Amino acid sequence: MKKKLCFLMIFVLLLSLFPILGLADTPTIQPVKILFNNMPIDKEKSSSIIVNGRTMVSSEFFSDNFGAEVKWEPITQTIIIQGKNVNIKLIIGKKEVVINGENRLIDVEPLLMFDKKMVPLKFVSEALGAQVKWNDETEKVEVITSNVLQKTTSEYNLLRVLAEQTAKFALKTLGNKGDFMVLTNAGYAIIDNKSTSPCLDGITSVIGCTSGNGNLLEIHTADSKPLWFFFYEKNSGNGIFIEMDGIKVARYLNGNIKLNDVKKDPSSFFKIVDKENIASDNLLANPDAWNQKIQKKVFDGYEFAIVTIANIASKGAPAGLIKSALFHDHLCPGVTSGYIIANYLKKEFPLRSPSESYYILAVPPWCKEDALQVILNTTPGKGGMAVIPMNDNNKKNLKPDAQNLAGIYFRYDSVTKKGDGVVLSFDFSKAQGLSGINMNKGFPWESRLKLDIWLLNYLEKPQFFINVIKSFELKPGEVPTDYAQPGVNPLVKLDLIK
Ligand SMILES: [Zn+2]
Repeated sequence: MKKKLCFLMIFVLLLSLFPILGLADTPTIQPVKILFNNMPIDKEKSSSIIVNGRTMVSSEFFSDNFGAEVKWEPITQTIIIQGKNVNIKLIIGKKEVVINGENRLIDVEPLLMFDKKMVPLKFVSEALGAQVKWNDETEKVEVITSNVLQKTTSEYNLLRVLAEQTAKFALKTLGNKGDFMVLTNAGYAIIDNKSTSPCLDGITSVIGCTSGNGNLLEIHTADSKPLWFFFYEKNSGNGIFIEMDGIKVARYLNGNIKLNDVKKDPSSFFKIVDKENIASDNLLANPDAWNQKIQKKVFDGYEFAIVTIANIASKGAPAGLIKSALFHDHLCPGVTSGYIIANYLKKEFPLRSPSESYYILAVPPWCKEDALQVILNTTPGKGGMAVIPMNDNNKKNLKPDAQNLAGIYFRYDSVTKKGDGVVLSFDFSKAQGLSGINMNKGFPWESRLKLDIWLLNYLEKPQFFINVIKSFELKPGEVPTDYAQPGVNPLVKLDLIK
């Protein structure tokens, strides 16, 4: 409503303005959708209108997006746009323009709209070296700058177009309207030694999903895995899984299949196409039906990954938990327990100075470690974590109060050479008791999905599941890695076994 009123005001203003400017034609006033280097431009932020068939944008568009310097001289009503090696002077109400000292003519004169100086998008963008075109299908103006243009003849463009066509196919199948989310391993999958990252831009340009908006989710897979996409419409729960034929894509990247063939029929590049409704309510209402689909590997084995991540992401799970799930490649209660432990550490065992850091002894390790690495950046590669597996026999030997052992957490100050630690437990049986979800009942995916959803309400309540088995100080001269040396049993050192 506010927006409508705003445009009405602009319309009235322009109507009153045009007689002064001597324009006979009534301008079409409508907002224009703009894609700048494949990214949608915020409509609220950038004013854009059509005047006599030309898209006009406020001069700020060029400082915001091109990084040009924009100046305004009120006395002469002149707008000066300074780009790299380009100087453009435009005057309100005048068709004469000066580019690097040379006079040129434009067909629609710049105008004032409130305090905004509206200038022709195409003319100024092209003067700054960009390409501008109208896309009939998407009804958007596309602006591509020269540095991006240079890439478009390469495999970047081939992969981008392939993803664009795939996204269009998916939209057609799902019905064009809705609130979309895309899950993919593009960027991780490698085809013929080439990164599949350009596909991400293709998806964005067609559907508008971006990682910043949290609706373009990159799922970690091994680089040897086939490239796949899952297009999900959040309101209906409908989604379509598309896996690419890697051999065919490689032939296309090598020039053996033409770009036009992709544009004609992208589906000839698909190895698997499968449309399903994966809304959690729907799956849990009829678990047998979905279990049969899992057995058939309708999403080539990514059923659990896709179902859990798509569902918790559309339920508004926090970004850190989603990031952890993407790294882990699915969301299970194990990952959530790691996220909850990270929250616990931040609250109850926080780092107290910039020289202090965490060191995690993952004993016994489980899916939680992946969340801890994402949230706390305690990667083994940087010396933030060591992993010690425990077999059933070892677990049996734990003292009764250490039964739910969930790791040993150190903080160590590299300057003062002091450190301390906590041994934590995580009580999954309490989670099962509180939620009434029995992990041994139903299909494994079923109870895990249920608990994933239930735990979303307990992410900030670590006190429900976490207990401190033991707190301790490091002895003078001792460092956390002393507890993870070959031949050292940290459980003996900390008196945790019988
Ligand atoms: Zn897991």
